[in-house]
Amino acid sequence: MKTKNIDFIAAPVPPHFVGNAFRVHNFIPGIPRLDMKSMDPFIMLDYNSKFNFPPTDSPRGVGVHPHKGFETVTIAYQGKVAHHDSSGGGGVIGEGEVQWMTAGNGILHKEYHDEEWSKKGGDFQMVQLWVNLPKKDKSTPPKYQALTTDNIKKVELDNKAGTVELIAGEYKGTKGAATTFSPIHMMNAKLNKGGKADFNFPAHYTTTLLVIEGSIKVNGQEEIPTDHLALMDRKGEEFQLEATEDAIVLVLSGEPLNEPIAAHGPFVMNTRDELVEAFQDFNEGKFGYLE
Ligand code: MN
Repeated sequence: MKTKNIDFIAAPVPPHFVGNAFRVHNFIPGIPRLDMKSMDPFIMLDYNSKFNFPPTDSPRGVGVHPHKGFETVTIAYQGKVAHHDSSGGGGVIGEGEVQWMTAGNGILHKEYHDEEWSKKGGDFQMVQLWVNLPKKDKSTPPKYQALTTDNIKKVELDNKAGTVELIAGEYKGTKGAATTFSPIHMMNAKLNKGGKADFNFPAHYTTTLLVIEGSIKVNGQEEIPTDHLALMDRKGEEFQLEATEDAIVLVLSGEPLNEPIAAHGPFVMNTRDELVEAFQDFNEGKFGYLE
């Protein structure tokens, strides 16, 4: 086994608002070295770094919008997000919880701050990641997986180093609850100051780290500060994180699909013709109806 080292550290770019609810730093695909092809199968990563929303009686949100050809994974670190869609799905993503939505063959969707949470306001911190679907699965029917405090598996680390909370894939023999269409490992490492955690992913997987809280060192060397992303190289398999202060790190590793990408806004297909068809379907109301 060879050591996997940092290829590139990305600082957060200036934030922009999605609707009036999500103040995000775009990492994928906006940062040149984090384009869709380089980050395959991860095609979009928006990070709402900690931001305080004052109390309001009218919840902030994002209006009706479509998705097709991929999955959205929403990870709520602080604050609560409510949502509903054209397939009749809906619910609330609570703090520490994750929603894995398969948009598949097309869905209309709305996301907004939970009404009760909005009345109090407070710190809001969230990740929305888009995971591409393999060509053969792009027409799969829409579905949701709710990863809650009940089914997020916790792996306690040795020496009271902290906990790994597993969303998908595997860590040290424990499997995450989410099912995926291609091999993906997704977890939050919650490390106490000085705590260490070892990871091992195939060399050719796309592996990236987002520091949500605190700061970490990778392989005892480079330090990654809060709100920064590290892209790991494809030369080795093993690496170690060490928290230089209490830290939360989102760890992502996925096998590249290596398929052509034709993307425009919320549609991610394989060819330009499919993209044109997706727009037509959307305009003809084939994604259903949502008020
Ligand atoms: Mn959406």
